[in-house]
Amino acid sequence: LFANGSALWTHVLPRPGLSSHKYERGHTLVASGGATRTGAARLAARAALRIGSGLVTVASPPEALGVNAAHLTAIMLRGCDGPEGLNTILQDPRFNALVLGPALGIHAGTRAMVAVAVHARRSLVLDADALTSFEGLASELHGAFRHAPTVLTPHDGEFSRLFKGHPDLLDPASKLERARRAAAFTGAVLVIKGADTVVAAPDGRAGINENGTPYLATAGSGDTLCGLIAGLMAQGVPAFEAACAGVWIHAEAGASFGPGLIAEDLAEAVPGVLRELLR
Ligand code: AMP
Ligand code: MG
Repeated sequence: LFANGSALWTHVLPRPGLSSHKYERGHTLVASGGATRTGAARLAARAALRIGSGLVTVASPPEALGVNAAHLTAIMLRGCDGPEGLNTILQDPRFNALVLGPALGIHAGTRAMVAVAVHARRSLVLDADALTSFEGLASELHGAFRHAPTVLTPHDGEFSRLFKGHPDLLDPASKLERARRAAAFTGAVLVIKGADTVVAAPDGRAGINENGTPYLATAGSGDTLCGLIAGLMAQGVPAFEAACAGVWIHAEAGASFGPGLIAEDLAEAVPGVLRELLR
């Protein structure tokens, strides 16, 4: 167990080589919600781009393509009609990492998209509605459930819903212990968010974040965190280090803004944080 400080993972932060090109810096895919719920995906996408993913694509339901297109510039856009659409996009091996969950809605369609994502051999961050739509189905995640790096980023409520029916994972009073048990059970890295965010790996490594700021308690903050973690995994950072670094950089970006922070600011503050870390 450690306090999650930058010394633990700075060495794995990606540094582009002199002759790197964008295709070597990872391609992150972010699934968007419907026409009235597109902001979360764009926040995650922007964060992935700022953390260094060479390419980022938003996968959007057809009815939301217009609103997404109107708000994206460097980030690319693909039409994606539910689980079949996601499956088609993921046939392209160039997408290295996927963010699934923010603002997708809690319904069978989201659950089906989770099933597609879980079976794809891509780095994956599952958050928000992807976790909630899996309510009580955590046994389907049991035991190294995927053959690719996986990070689950629930807050306390999402954690309780996901592992409903698993008292052994829900009962421990310590959040750290819950995270460790859930990581061992699923085979995924667990990030249980909140003022005292904990990160736990299936192999028993675990950390408590030390630089949180209550200004992070704002709409879209968690969506940004997903993008940071996926953007790092797209560049080849291992899941546990990507989760620890993403959580720490997210908090540091928030603290650098402080009062008045809104989620849109977080990605914009990332370059300043990275500049310090990569010095
Ligand atoms: P979400 O619950 O998905 O909106 O995510 C909220 C984000 O803000 C997570 O990364 C939390 O860890 C962080 N956060 C929320 N409240 C606090 C707090 N009081 N102190 C530090 N971080 C917080
Ligand atoms: Mg959230």
